[in-house]
Amino acid sequence: MAVTKLKIKKGDLVQILSGKDRGKQGRVIEARPSEGRVIVENLNMIKRHTRPRAMKDASRMGSPQVVPGGIIEKAAPLDASNVMIVCPVCNKTTRVGVKVVERKGETHKLRVCRREGCGQEIDR
Ligand SMILES: [Zn+2]
Repeated sequence: MAVTKLKIKKGDLVQILSGKDRGKQGRVIEARPSEGRVIVENLNMIKRHTRPRAMKDASRMGSPQVVPGGIIEKAAPLDASNVMIVCPVCNKTTRVGVKVVERKGETHKLRVCRREGCGQEIDR
């Protein structure tokens, strides 16, 4: 698998490019740079069925306690190539560029919007 540097960070607003949630926007709640994946709040939801099960260490005191089963919904990781950052300045999906700036003698890499006519910093 090709190593791509993840330019999406926790807290970014992104738009989904493919799948059932295509076109929807949401906030990144987790970025996994090593996997090239992100988890977007309330998007790409999957249902997980859980079985009722006995609680550990509860059987000594009378009847065993049971954790009820059911369906839980959780956001599944998306491949970073399937989402695009929404620029907080122009509110449009954009590719991300990197600008190197010097502040107080230190170099910082800032993410910038690559949309023509915008070019503003994405990081706040
Ligand atoms: Zn922009």
